[in-house]
Amino acid sequence: KKVNRQTVSYLSRRFEEVGLNPNKRHGQNFLVDLNLIQMIAKSADLGKNDVVLEIGTGMGSLTGMLAQKAAHVITVEIDGYLYQMASEELEAFDNIEMLKQDALKNKNQFDDRVIDAIKKALAADSSRVFKLAANLPYNVATPIIANLLRSEVIPATMSVTIQKELADRITAKPGSKDYGSLSVWVQSMADPELVRVMPPHVFWPRPKVDSAILKIVHRPEKAAAVPDIDFFYAFVRAMFFHRRKFMRSVAVAAFKGQLSKPQVDEVLAEAGLREDARTEQLSVEELQSLCELFRQKLV
Ligand code: SAM
Repeated sequence: KKVNRQTVSYLSRRFEEVGLNPNKRHGQNFLVDLNLIQMIAKSADLGKNDVVLEIGTGMGSLTGMLAQKAAHVITVEIDGYLYQMASEELEAFDNIEMLKQDALKNKNQFDDRVIDAIKKALAADSSRVFKLAANLPYNVATPIIANLLRSEVIPATMSVTIQKELADRITAKPGSKDYGSLSVWVQSMADPELVRVMPPHVFWPRPKVDSAILKIVHRPEKAAAVPDIDFFYAFVRAMFFHRRKFMRSVAVAAFKGQLSKPQVDEVLAEAGLREDARTEQLSVEELQSLCELFRQKLV
């Protein structure tokens, strides 16, 4: 089957035909380097048992590559014109399910129709594995990654193109300036690996910033240390809110009305933390066990 060879001249012609420009608000920066589109697909390491979700079909160039390898591809596109264009491009495939909608219900939740489509595709065969592969719209890359990691169906791997700066935050280690709640959320459940840094000129139109391909490998055994994921998310967010303050005062404020100062001190002592510890110095494992101690103190 023919795969769409997306080039600058092809893309600009297709937009010109209908008098449109790529929509900035929807993060419409198309990959025009075939090797890099292939690199995303390759990093997903697809086989005939895989169900792949793509957010942002665009003109369908990555979609077709995914469909050649996987059992089933679910691809979501918010833009009506692109949806129509991609439907024509991908006509020859019978394992692509196209959804014309916003992938997110809101910043904190995936849309139910997307989750239902994934569940249905997985139910067809118990050996099926769920993966994400996408050149993500940058404005919603963070909620897509964060929400999928705590959804009903968590991808075994996510191979995504995102802003380099976001990849740096996701992979950051304790003590670095990029280390924050997102680093801890992702690393508490998965291992993120930087696959490739990409300059602006591999996209049309060119974004203002560098990009990166990141592969996030789900590690269920890590996630087991966090029995209440929503509590952990809220805890980490609260603890990084004043990242340079002493943890003790941040925790006292965060649990105000629920735990007394002596109770907070008890938890910190149990965790073996010094009074002058700061959240940004704690490892993911330390934050997981601290969170669990607080949670148990509350029940
Ligand atoms: N996959 C194509 C490629 O690699 O060239 C397009 C990638 S482009 C970075 C992102 C795509 O996501 C755009 O086609 C855009 O219209 C779509 N999009 C933006 N926000 C979306 C959302 N909330 N839900 C679904 N699709 C969205």
